[in-house]
Amino acid sequence: MFTAAAVAMYYVEGDVKGSKITSLGDAFWWAIATVATVPYGDVYPVTTEGRIIAGFFMIAGVAILWVLITTVGGNMIESRIRSKLEAESTRNIQEEEKIEKLQITTKEELDSLVASISNLRTELLTILTIVSEFNVICNACKHGNPNGSLFCNSCGSSIESILADTKIEKLAKASSKDKELGT
Ligand SMILES: [Zn+2]
Repeated sequence: MFTAAAVAMYYVEGDVKGSKITSLGDAFWWAIATVATVPYGDVYPVTTEGRIIAGFFMIAGVAILWVLITTVGGNMIESRIRSKLEAESTRNIQEEEKIEKLQITTKEELDSLVASISNLRTELLTILTIVSEFNVICNACKHGNPNGSLFCNSCGSSIESILADTKIEKLAKASSKDKELGT
């Protein structure tokens, strides 16, 4: 289009008297200045045919530039929006996966929690049974100690003496009962 306009302008204006476009170089210079909308005014058509060609070329040049700018700009904006949307959708997918994982984890965790609670309950019941059978209560602080302890785990009193005291108390009680029964 550019070349065609320049050649046509040269063809129309080249041999006209008083023309500013006397060579192909002038014609191309005119085409460049016109399409760039540079207002030098050093080369311009003087014939009617030349002005008609110039008019078409100006309008066509502006139209081509407009299409070029809008297409390039539109593509740039589109690609930018697309990349943003893609990033957003990727993020959304990642978040959904995270939520799914979280739900699965929570369900598994809940199951394991329930299992560990029931295990703990069983253990606690076992311990309570053992403790009730063999626990030694400290006389000083009433703290429960495992069988065979030498000292109270809470106050540090000697378990032996406590046991002895308890035995003595029991014996005393037993003897007093015997006495009561005897008399
Ligand atoms: Zn104690």
